[in-house]
Amino acid sequence: MKYIFFSIALLYGSLFISAQNDSLQPSLKIELPTYKLNLGPIIETIEIPLVAKKASEIDIKSDHWDTTLHNPYADTVQQFPLELNFTDSTYASPVPHTKVVTSRYGWRRGRAHNGIDIDLVTGDSVVSILSGIVRFAKYANGFGNTIVVRHYNGLESTYAHLSYIDVKANDTITKGQYIGKGGNTGNSRGSHLHLELSYKGEQIHPEYLFDFSSKNAIRSEQVWVTQKWTHARYHNSRTVSKVKLIKSADEAALVNLARQPKLYVVQKGDTLYAISRRNNMSLSRLCETNAIKQTSPLKIGQKLVLEL
Ligand SMILES: [Zn+2]
Repeated sequence: MKYIFFSIALLYGSLFISAQNDSLQPSLKIELPTYKLNLGPIIETIEIPLVAKKASEIDIKSDHWDTTLHNPYADTVQQFPLELNFTDSTYASPVPHTKVVTSRYGWRRGRAHNGIDIDLVTGDSVVSILSGIVRFAKYANGFGNTIVVRHYNGLESTYAHLSYIDVKANDTITKGQYIGKGGNTGNSRGSHLHLELSYKGEQIHPEYLFDFSSKNAIRSEQVWVTQKWTHARYHNSRTVSKVKLIKSADEAALVNLARQPKLYVVQKGDTLYAISRRNNMSLSRLCETNAIKQTSPLKIGQKLVLEL
């Protein structure tokens, strides 16, 4: 009986001490009488953490946490394949109405389109697709008013062309929380939401991770991301890419070895017709692969995809 009172007193004592210091994780310290062969009866202390913080919640701000740059990973090189884990099976729709995709991730007008465009009217509420912490909330070149939320699995979501930003860097955000209003700021043709998903600076094809139908489903709680799903040149912004999820490291490694797309850099004097002839491609196939018109002007240095 004496032991029990003693233990309870210690228990409260531990709680009190932990509550005094925020840097300590609150824990229960329990003194248990036990018997050891070589020592005889002794009292052992067992510590039980009270609020088990997820490791990811502690680490989220430890890597390239820069509130001044849209992409703080610009000077880093990532290893592929990347592994991503989700604790949710659904995401929150970023817009408060049916999602109409007006342009997809992929090659567009001779350039990379690294996100998905969702139609909206200026002033429509935009919400965070998952819980996380705001890493960036300011005007960015091309993107206009932009919010970047880093989620607890390391994935970042970017919301661009906003008319209004209603959060600030370092704000903690829950899934579905209102963060700003949609608009047409920056390099944008008409009001829409440009949504990007990236991991350590690598922009991932949003439709590889998420189903953009009304189900708002996250395709898999565990997924491997290969280079195919982080490079716009493998995709066409006008067509739906066939998604085949990679769920094991072995499969991901094999797919990652697959050949790269063949690119051509436009030289002075080039025409689309001449490039198509030299590479045994029809002009229409060349234009379709690159999501450009046959009459599109070429720029020196522009990259064209010859083979996927
Ligand atoms: Zn866009």
